[in-house]
Amino acid sequence: MFLPGLRRLIGLYAVRENDPVLATAQFQALARQILMLYAFLGLNAVGLAYAHYGLAPDWVVIGPPFVLVLAVGGRSLSWIRAARRPLQGRQAFAQLRMVNRFTVILGLSASLWASLLYGRGDSASDMHVIFFLTITMMFCMQCLAHLRSAAHILTTIAVPYCLYFIAFGEPMVQMAVVSYVLVLIGSTAMQSFAYRDFCHLVDLTAENGRLALTDMLTGLPNRRAFTARLEEAVAQAAATGGRFGVGMIDLDGFKPVNDSLGHGAGDAVLREVARRLEAAGLGWVARLGGDEFGLIVEGEADLEAIGGQVCALLRQPYLLREGSAQIGASVGFARFPEAAAGAETLVDRADFALYHAKTCRRGSAVCFAPAHEAALRRDAAIEQALRRADLAREFHLLYQPIVDAVSGRVEAYEALARWQSPTLGAVSPADFIPVAERSGLIRDLTRAMLGQALDTMRRWPADRRLSFNLSAHDIAAPESVDGLTAIVVASGIDPGRIVFEVTESGLMRDLGDANRALASLKALGVKIALDDFGTGYFSLSYLQRLPVDRLKIDRSFVTRLTEDATSLAIVRSILDLCRHLDLDCVVEGIETADQMLLLRSVGCRMMQGYLFHRPMPADAIPAFEAAAAEPTRWPGPCSEAA
Ligand code: C2E
Ligand code: CA
Ligand code: CA
Repeated sequence: MFLPGLRRLIGLYAVRENDPVLATAQFQALARQILMLYAFLGLNAVGLAYAHYGLAPDWVVIGPPFVLVLAVGGRSLSWIRAARRPLQGRQAFAQLRMVNRFTVILGLSASLWASLLYGRGDSASDMHVIFFLTITMMFCMQCLAHLRSAAHILTTIAVPYCLYFIAFGEPMVQMAVVSYVLVLIGSTAMQSFAYRDFCHLVDLTAENGRLALTDMLTGLPNRRAFTARLEEAVAQAAATGGRFGVGMIDLDGFKPVNDSLGHGAGDAVLREVARRLEAAGLGWVARLGGDEFGLIVEGEADLEAIGGQVCALLRQPYLLREGSAQIGASVGFARFPEAAAGAETLVDRADFALYHAKTCRRGSAVCFAPAHEAALRRDAAIEQALRRADLAREFHLLYQPIVDAVSGRVEAYEALARWQSPTLGAVSPADFIPVAERSGLIRDLTRAMLGQALDTMRRWPADRRLSFNLSAHDIAAPESVDGLTAIVVASGIDPGRIVFEVTESGLMRDLGDANRALASLKALGVKIALDDFGTGYFSLSYLQRLPVDRLKIDRSFVTRLTEDATSLAIVRSILDLCRHLDLDCVVEGIETADQMLLLRSVGCRMMQGYLFHRPMPADAIPAFEAAAAEPTRWPGPCSEAA
């Protein structure tokens, strides 16, 4: 009972420990006003000494204010220095304790000195002493309002001399001191309210700061926190010669979960991903946004092994209220200092490694390596050349027929872009399309190519269709869809003869956006084909929701057709699905007569591949059409005529 009370009492006179945030805020608040306190105290002391000069011995009148002025001068200098390099946490705490100690020393000595001057002159000079004690003390207490302990110390110092003056002073002095005591009580109460508000504000500010660095959904640090932490790690490793790894984790197949099970389920998956990553203790984890997470791994750890663990961890099924979900993850790592020496480049490189994982080794971890460096440089060179390229002169289209393998009729031609760069030579679309997409140049390219293709189409028989590839970026924004529509309308070609091919992965970025874009294209009268079907995490439920007319079964199934019975079974079920959903189906990449016969035997008609013809220039089409009309068709694979 007694001890806790005593402890609480002592607590009133001490700086609050273990609250570095408050100490820092108190330091900052004091730094703004403590110089004023010292100046006021020094000037008032000089004034009091001046008024009492000759009324008391010099050592009483001049000595103490001289020492006092020196002391406040010294303290002022120390604060000016401290304020230049704002102190934080423990250092701020130490400075505050120093303020308390000086408050005791200065408060006691100033009051003692003023009391010594009391009664030396007439009643006016006595009132001056009282004035000095009360006004100076009140002002100092105002200045120390943010450090409650110091204000308490001053109030306590005031108690004995107030009692003394009330007991032994002249009646006028007694009344003045009584009013001072009343004001003191009132202002102490007000200060304690203000102090409570100040502490609350500091807590709120700290909480806001914490929230600004936290991802609300998962409770993990967010991208801002990640960037700050990464910069810290770079600075520390650069100073100590240390090493660390940065990982970018991207979920595969998360979007379908969100779309088919709802956003609640998507959120639950993200929270569980965060929980698994944190529980595994593989490094410092943050959520960077969407389905992307970041990882910082200290030291020499084997990054590929850690990445492998991450992938395995996130592949485990997710049991949700809405049902069970399965996703995957790809990871890209970059190590400091090998991959890069700066935080931003390090993230770029980890992103590049992730991009590699996504495109070549989906569901696994890739560490940025010198080979990627070369690929990055090549991509940069492609981007440079692409920015300078004359799209109309350097780019042209080849056309590959899509045929009905039963009747032999040519149904359409797929336009495939080719680039002959004056600086880089021939560049494959597999190389320049991704770069054009990443650099935002794809839209101009698509428009130029579409104009070319529609021009070429005028020379074809009236029932031949054009199959034209669109990138995800072409359908991402309404303006770009409007641009495509305008080109089709301006060409005067019947939109019913145009098929726009979009890939699964392109559609899955944002199903809502994709749906709107496709619907507005369909309103024009064009057909939509889903390209590379079967290669991604595409959910079959999408097929019902998207306005798709045709599926193009990816070449990879055909490659395995003759040696792997499941491939044929898959193709057969996709054909069944298409029949039920009333969709056209084209199988891509047929190279041999065996493949064609096998596919025909399971009911597949529409095919595309080298067996029928390689992509050819526009002016080779009339000869191809003539040959296709002959009874002996498809003699075998031919070479791509450029
Ligand atoms: P894709 O749309 O799947 O096009 C089919 C690709 O398979 C073409 O490659 C074609 O030459 C090739 N191919 C066709 N038949 C066979 C076959 O029997 N065997 C083999 N091994 N390959 C065959 P290409 O022309 O190199 O184009 C690659 C990809 O680049 C295309 O894949 C498409 O995604 C993209 N692409 C090409 N042109 C454009 C374009 O103008 N715009 C957009 N956005 N993408 C384009
Ligand atoms: Ca295509
Ligand atoms: Ca394809």
